[in-house]
Amino acid sequence: MSLMILMSDRSQVMREKMVEFQIEMRGVKDPLVLRAMRKVPRHLFLPASQKDSAYDDAPLPIGFGQTISQPYIVAYMTEVLNPQKGQRFLEVGTGSGYQAAVLAEIVDTVYTIEIIPELGKRASERLSAMGYKNITVKIGDGYEGWKEHAPFDGIMVTAGAESIPPPLIEQLKDGGRMVIPVGSPYLVQNLILVEKHGKAVLKRNLIPVRFVPFQRGQ
Ligand code: SAH
Repeated sequence: MSLMILMSDRSQVMREKMVEFQIEMRGVKDPLVLRAMRKVPRHLFLPASQKDSAYDDAPLPIGFGQTISQPYIVAYMTEVLNPQKGQRFLEVGTGSGYQAAVLAEIVDTVYTIEIIPELGKRASERLSAMGYKNITVKIGDGYEGWKEHAPFDGIMVTAGAESIPPPLIEQLKDGGRMVIPVGSPYLVQNLILVEKHGKAVLKRNLIPVRFVPFQRGQ
């Protein structure tokens, strides 16, 4: 058996444990989400110095002062959006590209925006090299969303905003959902679920979270 096979077996075992003990035991049940979390090789999204920690129950640094979220948070935020085949999603805050890959295992198309050019470029190259053809990365300020591809069935914001950007609500489909951490930068934020029903926009507090700040400009 080649070393490559041994290594991929090992990461598969670590993902199985991650899903069982960090994600299912905390209550995430959606089989589509659990399957995606079992499949996406999280270690390939991390800098060499962090690879050994890839399946730890923690967020990890990805360079440029940014972080990849804890696996449970990735799974939880994905489940909350109830993603389905046939849908089109927007992510704001590409970072490593890991969350985009998890979404792309479930929905048809993922558009994702990253404000730090080098991170966006690396994520885009990584996702192409891994064979993801249904993810498009753009470098820019996600505050404005991505009008050309709107409306979206789901929008996920993975940086902590001080308020909900109105363009993102506009670009949500009728019946669509958005999940976004809202609160003070670097302090605890609330994960908010936004649901759009015609003109009505419902907002619900989910759980306290801590994300890197939502930046502006570009
Ligand atoms: N979802 C990522 C982790 C996100 S960390 C992953 O799976 O790896 C948050 C990311 O949001 C950072 O990369 C940060 O640069 C980016 N970001 C912050 N403000 C932004 C904005 N206004 N538009 C787009 N990206 C933004």
